[in-house]
Amino acid sequence: MPQTQIKLHKGDLPSGLDFGGAVAVDTETLGLKPHRDRLCLVQLSAGDGTAHLVQLDGRDYRAPNLKALLTDPAVLKIFHYARFDVAVLSRYLGVAVAPLYCTKIASKLVRTYTDRHGLKDLVSEILGIELSKQQQSSDWAATSLSDQQKAYAASDVLHLHKLRERLDEMLDRDGRRALAEAAFGFLPTRAALDLAGFEETDIFSH
Ligand code: MN
Repeated sequence: MPQTQIKLHKGDLPSGLDFGGAVAVDTETLGLKPHRDRLCLVQLSAGDGTAHLVQLDGRDYRAPNLKALLTDPAVLKIFHYARFDVAVLSRYLGVAVAPLYCTKIASKLVRTYTDRHGLKDLVSEILGIELSKQQQSSDWAATSLSDQQKAYAASDVLHLHKLRERLDEMLDRDGRRALAEAAFGFLPTRAALDLAGFEETDIFSH
């Protein structure tokens, strides 16, 4: 991994940034309930060691450059637990994020020997890197984020490209690539069900 760089932007991405064919994305919110807990930060990386953090103030969600990237059909959006982020981005930015890849779903389809599918577990086992989760629950609505918060937020997107690469190899090995892609395709519906109040209901169960 090259030297980590963190760039903070207020309200939107600057224009003219190129993330290539795949961008790693994560969000930080005030909590786990999308209707109650607002979107505060969107983190993005091209997988090159640089993380762009877009800080949102809770009033102005226009962010045209960010929205264009999140909905660009030529750019794959890589998340860890996309289900939550896709719901939050839909609720606050009004965008249908696509196309999607979720490292947590991929992990569940291939790492059937464990029930540990957290980002910290994946990055540790697959990449041999230890992530700190210390700032996970902190005040993401703060006007001025601490260096620790910025480093934590960045670390959530810096490793997703490498994880995807390894997980794709495992999906191919196990013949589950098509299953994964179909599951990624269902994510917008899963997020919509969550926002519609069906988060605890498995509509497929008997
Ligand atoms: Mn995060």
